[in-house]
Amino acid sequence: HESQYKIVDPATNTLVRRYPTSDDAAVDRAVSAAADEFAEWRRRPVKERADLVLAVSREFEARREELAAIITREMGKTTREALGEVDLSAAIFAYYAEHGPDFAADQRLDIRGGGDVVVRSEPLGALLGVMPWNYPYYQVARFVAPNLVLGNTVVLKHAPSCPESAQAIEDMMRAAGLPAGAYVNVYATNEQVARVIADPRVQGVSLTGSERAGRAVGEIAGRHLKKYVLELGGSDPFVVLPDADLEAAVGAAVEGRMGNAGQACTASKRFIVVDSVYDRFLEAFTDAVRALTVGDPTDDGVSFGPLSSEEAARTVIAQVDDAVERGATAVTGGRRPAREGAFVEPTVLTGVTPGMRAYREEIFGPVAVVHRVPDTAAAVRLANDTPYGLGSVVFGRDIAAAKAVADALDVGMVSINGPSGTQEDLPFGGVKLSGVGRELGAYGMAEFVNRKVIRVR
Ligand code: NDP
Repeated sequence: HESQYKIVDPATNTLVRRYPTSDDAAVDRAVSAAADEFAEWRRRPVKERADLVLAVSREFEARREELAAIITREMGKTTREALGEVDLSAAIFAYYAEHGPDFAADQRLDIRGGGDVVVRSEPLGALLGVMPWNYPYYQVARFVAPNLVLGNTVVLKHAPSCPESAQAIEDMMRAAGLPAGAYVNVYATNEQVARVIADPRVQGVSLTGSERAGRAVGEIAGRHLKKYVLELGGSDPFVVLPDADLEAAVGAAVEGRMGNAGQACTASKRFIVVDSVYDRFLEAFTDAVRALTVGDPTDDGVSFGPLSSEEAARTVIAQVDDAVERGATAVTGGRRPAREGAFVEPTVLTGVTPGMRAYREEIFGPVAVVHRVPDTAAAVRLANDTPYGLGSVVFGRDIAAAKAVADALDVGMVSINGPSGTQEDLPFGGVKLSGVGRELGAYGMAEFVNRKVIRVR
């Protein structure tokens, strides 16, 4: 049957190129290569691994423009955002090259009775990564960089819509001088992925993607007692308190919701605004959203391009239509622009109530849901009324009050008075259906580790 791996440029909905799916023998060879290499890779001095990971960072820098063009073509992000993602990925590889050896250093313990006790951070083995299309380089970088420095090896299955960036990453690993088995790309099917997770030569799996994918992979990993990290969806609240700087809040709201055409797990998705500032916030926010321009992602002038695929655009429009049919209002946007490609207008929805898909589901596109609440307590209740718990934003001039809201949110991350963002040295992850485990910072290196205790008696 037809391979699911193909590039379809979402700006025009035209097929660019098909890639054959890996056959079972190729997937088996990939697992063998990663498992065999592990025995060598883990024995190398950590400094040597770190130097090779630094070389990967240099590859990203050297191929910056070309790499950006690949993901713009695969999933439609603007050239500006694509370049930003390449730079962030380079920063992640460089960060773990510099700090990874310290994160993995032996830890001495003072225990009752004294003695020489060390906790050594040993790698686990060959790991599987399953990654999505929304940040094709960044998602891979934050899983792979810490694990390579630690001494793990990786088999990577990327999203079917980004085979070219998947291949480019493997090529950069090779060009940087990593041995072939340290990082192997496969164009695997979900059945093959299930077998790789079950394979005794593989010790763990990290997935970024939808809740559905996370459940499937977590279930298989659990059955085979394999460690897993899941970074799933979010429906992040953006709480505007009565004393918020509204101009700054509107700026952060537009950036937080519309960046990457709204296709980020930590995009701000639900704007929860206290009554006393609701009308002013909504008016200014709607004006700002109306001023956005949608078009060719390679054009510097546009705010954002198409969504990642025609199917993604249809899903978002179906969520909007469902809300509007049930009584919500599209204050602006809500339709497909009259042009070819997977485009969706920047949209603001009000009057969204619990019976609507837009109330509870993650909206992975440029659609902001704005809620009015009577007071701060109601804002917190609504913010927590979601199955997700990834990031969040709180705007308010009284920092103590904003921190009290932060304490009350059931989330993994809170950003006060600024859009939520990601950077190489800031831990990332969520609770509830948003996932299991953490990435980035020192925590990114704390997942696929054997904390071996060595005690001299
Ligand atoms: P998926 O979660 O389906 O895809 C992410 C990755 O998981 C892909 O490589 C995919 O491969 C893989 N995958 C999916 N199902 C399985 C499975 N049963 N076994 C093994 N691997 C699997 O994302 P979609 O593209 O379908 O996007 C749908 C929604 O997911 C979005 O609208 C958004 O809500 C959410 N999402 C969240 C992301 C995040 O950053 N947290 C990123 C992307 C999506 P394959 O396609 O071959 O199945």
